[in-house]
Amino acid sequence: MTTHEFDFVVVGAGTSGCYAAATAAKAGYDVVVVERKDADEAGHIACGDALKGAANFPDAIPKTELEPAFTNTGVDHGRFEIPQEDTVLEIPIPGELAVIDRWKYGKRIIESASEAGVAFHYDTVVQDVEQDRAGRVTGVRATRKGDAVTYDAEFVVDAAGSLSLLQDTVDFSESTFDTNVDYSQFCSAYREIVEVPEPVEWDDALVFKPTERAAGYLWYFPRTDTQINAGLGFQMNEEPMHLVEDLKSDLRNRAEFAGAEVKDKLGAALPTRRPYDSATHPGYLAVGDAAGHVNPTTGGGIAGAAYAGKYAAEAAIDALEDGVHGEAALWSYNERVMDHFGARYAALDVYNVLSTAVDVDDLMSLLASLPGKQLSEALYAGTSSFGVGLAAKVAAKSFGHWGQIYQMYQTKRVADRLLEHYEAYPSSPDGLERWQARRDDIMDDVYEVTGADAKY
Ligand SMILES: Cc1cc2nc3c(=O)[nH]c(=O)nc-3n(C[C@H](O)[C@H](O)[C@H](O)COP(=O)(O)OP(=O)(O)OC[C@H]3O[C@@H](n4cnc5c(N)ncnc54)[C@H](O)[C@@H]3O)c2cc1C
Repeated sequence: MTTHEFDFVVVGAGTSGCYAAATAAKAGYDVVVVERKDADEAGHIACGDALKGAANFPDAIPKTELEPAFTNTGVDHGRFEIPQEDTVLEIPIPGELAVIDRWKYGKRIIESASEAGVAFHYDTVVQDVEQDRAGRVTGVRATRKGDAVTYDAEFVVDAAGSLSLLQDTVDFSESTFDTNVDYSQFCSAYREIVEVPEPVEWDDALVFKPTERAAGYLWYFPRTDTQINAGLGFQMNEEPMHLVEDLKSDLRNRAEFAGAEVKDKLGAALPTRRPYDSATHPGYLAVGDAAGHVNPTTGGGIAGAAYAGKYAAEAAIDALEDGVHGEAALWSYNERVMDHFGARYAALDVYNVLSTAVDVDDLMSLLASLPGKQLSEALYAGTSSFGVGLAAKVAAKSFGHWGQIYQMYQTKRVADRLLEHYEAYPSSPDGLERWQARRDDIMDDVYEVTGADAKY
């Protein structure tokens, strides 16, 4: 058996892993990224290819390194197709957005992390963690092409993606690490890269469309005007969809896809849930999808993964410099995540909860009656404000949906309360239990207002 020693072992060469590794390597630490895929496949990740907010990405791998993978920077709005209402809603997308060649992006972040001094060990499947008697994680055990290999480390960063296998093996009894995780809080998604013969007219838009059944949606994101990322997903608490067939059937009905050629196919699970209450354990931090750092209403997780990687590495570096490994020493990581995007994502999750309890057709016809700007604010910022005049106009247009609007209004009020509570996230692990109890009370109100089954 081979044994390696590093300051940091990062499991997974995706966005969160590469950003965590590059941050630590740039601070002078010995870092290895352990990746189950081979060197060619690494970075090939199922995604809608929409990258939001790259201008402000962490310095460890700045936007200039990512830009060669940008294939369409002309998208400025979402196009919500609502077949039930024969309506198309055009909703502005705030901030910077690029549709990217995701595989090339994956390679760019690996190359940048390598240039920062990170070692990459491919074909290496992590199967277990090592823990000392006090419960601190001290490394991982893996298999490379049939051979056992062990990595000893000061810190292990779990960047292994949705439903990370590592979390099944760690004994978390000595920490507050969030184990209230179930597959039903995830979305199952599938996408194809499709080459169409003629340029599409909507190459300046991300196209969304509800699926006919279950709480799912289809998307069409233009990488270029002839290369489309077409996909669909559904929340796994619903009746399973036949992702490949359902996508094919929608493609068949769209004239622009006649004669199209499928270039690539991939599927995966993504968290459509609130971020983990705590993603720290002595010697161990979970980042990105492995800690639920995805906007649960849009499915966008790249930006959250990049920042989580940075914050986790910085907290671990501080702890290392103080010669400590405990959870309290890593706590600033949880705080920074909640402060930056975690609180907002938890509030947005309330609308996901609502969507599981309302009739899709009713929701669509209601959406068709709402103004685009407010919808855009609700989708991306987790909040929205209606002036009196606008509210009156919406009320007139949405006659017949007032019951749902009132339910939406109540849902928004309880989501705002939740946001406020997340803004008071505790400053140490000691305060977490009390904070969780209060949060769970607010969630009970969420279930009552929405009529949804408990998600957590
Ligand atoms: C279909 C789909 C569409 C999406 N669309 C978008 C979008 O348009 N925009 C957006 O911003 N986000 C999107 N997302 C979400 C986004 O892809 C993720 O949030 C993001 O990739 C998370 O990065 P990560 O580094 O945490 O995990 P991943 O990118 O999943 O990386 C995890 C890595 O860990 C490796 N690994 C896993 N287990 C092991 C193991 N045991 N040993 C060694 N290596 C292991 C994997 O091979 C992988 O390379 C989408 C997700 C899906 C599934």
